[in-house]
Amino acid sequence: ASGNHDLRALIRTIPDFPKPGILFRDVTTLLADGAGLRASVARMAEPWEGHGIDKVIGLEARGFILGGAVACHLGAGFVPVRKAGKLPGKVLTQDYALEYGSATFELHEDAIEAGETVLIVDDLLATGGTAEAGIALLERLGARIAACSFIVDLPALGGRKRLEALGMSVHTLVA
Ligand code: 5GP
Repeated sequence: ASGNHDLRALIRTIPDFPKPGILFRDVTTLLADGAGLRASVARMAEPWEGHGIDKVIGLEARGFILGGAVACHLGAGFVPVRKAGKLPGKVLTQDYALEYGSATFELHEDAIEAGETVLIVDDLLATGGTAEAGIALLERLGARIAACSFIVDLPALGGRKRLEALGMSVHTLVA
């Protein structure tokens, strides 16, 4: 199913977004390509087939698109980690630093049972701060985190090292 599609060629780079000097890796072009989307989801999911993943965790917002599809592929449930104020039930809250300023992630406190095995999914790993906030929320609920999976790794920004230093297994498709 995953084939040999050149996923990198389907991702475009847009200069000066969202701020001057930033090269934004735009995955909407990959998501819009049927074969590219299917290959991305398959390559993210296949290493975890048979590993007893109970829930796939998607980080808002592009992690929802990929995470839902990966969960379906694995026969796992899907759980969103959302920006503050979006989830209706009782939540755990985690602040995290952005390049400029900060943000807050939330997770429904009844979304995961202690001891469940989860896979974290997002589109891109940069500094790792976003994923680390998701990890912190999941650990507070006693989840066992099998791995963190991304389409794109930007190794110069250090996210992989940061997550591996937390004991995480990090899986990426394109650097
Ligand atoms: P980090 O917290 O690892 O520094 O940043 C990763 C988060 O910001 C992810 O949720 C990702 O979607 C978003 N992000 C940061 N830079 C980019 C980029 O160049 N392209 C895309 N698609 N997302 C980015």
